[in-house]
Amino acid sequence: MSSSNLLIVEDEVLVAMDIKSRLTKMGYTVVDVASRGQEAVEKALDLRPDLILMDINLKDDMDGVDTAIHIREQYDVPIIFCTAYSNEDTLERAKVSEPYGYVLKPFDNRELEINIEIALYKHKVERDLSDTRTRLDATLAHVSDGIIAADPDGVIHLINPMAEQITGWRRQDLQHVTLDRIMTLEPFEAGGIQLRPHMLAGAQFSNGRYVRQYLRRPGGELKPIELCVNRIENHRSELIVITFRDISQQLGYEEQIRHNAFFDGLTGLPNRALFFDRLENALNHRSRSHDAPFAVAFLDLDKFGVVNEGLGHDSGDRVIDEVARRLERSLRPDDTLSRFSGDIFAILLDPVDSVRGAITAVSRMQKAIEQPFDLGDVTINLTASTGIVLYQPDYTCAEDMIRDADTALHRAKSEVRGSCAVFDAAMYESALKFIDCRRGIQTGLDNDEFEVHYQPIVDADTEELVSMEALVRWKHPERGYVSPVEFIPVAEETGLILPLGEWVLATVCEQIEYWQRRGLDAPRVAVNLSARQFEGEVPKLVANLLERTGISPESLTLEITEGIAMKNVERNIRMLNELRFLGLSISIDDFGTGYSSLAYLKRFPLNTLKIDRSFIKDITTNDEDREITRAIIAMGQNLQLKVLAEGVETDDQITLLRESGCDLIQGYYYSKPLGAAAMTCYLQQRLRAMTRRADMSLAPAV
Ligand code: C2E
Ligand code: MG
Ligand code: MG
Repeated sequence: MSSSNLLIVEDEVLVAMDIKSRLTKMGYTVVDVASRGQEAVEKALDLRPDLILMDINLKDDMDGVDTAIHIREQYDVPIIFCTAYSNEDTLERAKVSEPYGYVLKPFDNRELEINIEIALYKHKVERDLSDTRTRLDATLAHVSDGIIAADPDGVIHLINPMAEQITGWRRQDLQHVTLDRIMTLEPFEAGGIQLRPHMLAGAQFSNGRYVRQYLRRPGGELKPIELCVNRIENHRSELIVITFRDISQQLGYEEQIRHNAFFDGLTGLPNRALFFDRLENALNHRSRSHDAPFAVAFLDLDKFGVVNEGLGHDSGDRVIDEVARRLERSLRPDDTLSRFSGDIFAILLDPVDSVRGAITAVSRMQKAIEQPFDLGDVTINLTASTGIVLYQPDYTCAEDMIRDADTALHRAKSEVRGSCAVFDAAMYESALKFIDCRRGIQTGLDNDEFEVHYQPIVDADTEELVSMEALVRWKHPERGYVSPVEFIPVAEETGLILPLGEWVLATVCEQIEYWQRRGLDAPRVAVNLSARQFEGEVPKLVANLLERTGISPESLTLEITEGIAMKNVERNIRMLNELRFLGLSISIDDFGTGYSSLAYLKRFPLNTLKIDRSFIKDITTNDEDREITRAIIAMGQNLQLKVLAEGVETDDQITLLRESGCDLIQGYYYSKPLGAAAMTCYLQQRLRAMTRRADMSLAPAV
């Protein structure tokens, strides 16, 4: 039984009382009775009943129909009309107020109750429906996708604000417009769909899959969209629902990502990945046709690090960008120029008629780079080295050609600045050797194949042993002893010099400790340091080793080359001072082969100057070498340095060096480098000889 609140509008007092009593008996609550129209409006708005029973004929200006219209304008309530008579005209007017029921007086209770219950139920269903629609509208208004629903004839039933925005059509303009006009689609990619009224029931559905298409907007503009067309069916109707979104921005991002993946951010040139791709294409094409050959050139700016370090990375970037522009201008449109890495550019010269053609193109690029670079405050001059490889039918992959262009570039870089080298078979051999050597050093380190040999250094006047140089040897399992001249450059280039150099230092320290423990009075040992090692914190490394082995720092000399002295001057002076402070000695090795002047070396805390073997070799026959050697000795001594001559092999050399005031001698004349065991014997003999001499001088004269 319902307990709904009812309002009765009836001007006949007795009738009103009768209806009220009947309704109350039925279990309804009659909240009030109104007898006039205006009064009914006020009470309805005030009491908010669940239903109104409205007499049509009220003794007033406003009859029941007008009153109902007024109330429903302001308050959504079901109204049932009751009247004793009805003419057509009144019924027509009553319809306008959307009545929920109509009972004719006199009515029986059952009829009244059924009318009331139906009206209440219908009103509830309508309200629920309206709530659902409101929620749906709100949802559709806020989804970020455009949604359009149409029937199979293309008549639009629903379009949300986002769909209006994307299509450029407004809801109010859609009365006579069908779906195919709003959604005029053009192909974007394969597998697109078309919407035509007669096809709506056909196969043009994406079945949950989104496809990309262009949408032609009313102004003719094409907008890229992603859309999904679905058919929704129930037993009464069929609906086409299109969900779509504007992907202009997304395409922009995708394009950006694609661009970043294949182009260099600084110069805008193709990057390494795109270059590989183009080269692969060229190779594939040649494998199918016999077109003219092509070439790959690598171009590397010489000493570009100096620009970056000296002028800062911003200036470095400006130079790289300017280089890119100059190279672009010096190439033909068909060639591909790419920034391969840092200051290396790779160029696909396609086609070229011959090696000569490639060299001409490359020379043009080198000339373009040799023009001064104006950086505002300063003007700089650069050169570039290049390596070229020409296509051969046995090249099947891009990696191989790139590897060979790189090998040629390396060769060019090892020559004078601004060189150009063309890859050939000999280079391939030496590249293979390099790779072999690198692998060998690595395994050699793992398998303990390295040894340290020691070459005596003697006092020029007394010929007494005063120190020795530690020289690393590689005892190759197949090749026997391999010269450091062969493997040290490879170790330096690959960075393997770091573990190898550290191993040498540690081995020397342990050897000294062994000799000291045996009381062998070992002299100082000089250890060679390479430039790469000097990039690390040498003082710390040495201090650790000294601490570990317990030997005194006075037992060690470090040999560095002029090259080390010339790079990172301030830092290196600091490190050398720290090493001197620890108690180590420092020698400059191979002096005379670099470009440093003695005046420049004055800033370095040095002890010894080693004159390179190349001067000593012809010292007795070549006047110039002799004069240079004499000058070096004189200047070295002026700077309070000990001067050592390397590679001394003959008596005549020794005589001459002695006359010139040379302090120390190292060379085959006295001894070749000796293995650790041989050197131990040598030291033992020396000790015995010294002891004998001491004994003899102590023995009483007879
Ligand atoms: P270096 O430091 O100038 O060493 C002197 C080189 O001259 C040694 O060659 C030595 O055997 C050789 N030599 C000495 N006296 C004579 C002589 O009278 N006649 C001739 N013809 N040669 C003589 P080695 O041992 O082949 O070493 C070559 C170079 O390898 C060294 O030149 C040094 O630059 C480098 N090296 C050797 N060991 C090491 C090391 O442990 N670390 C580093 N970084 N480099 C090393
Ligand atoms: Mg040396
Ligand atoms: Mg030397």
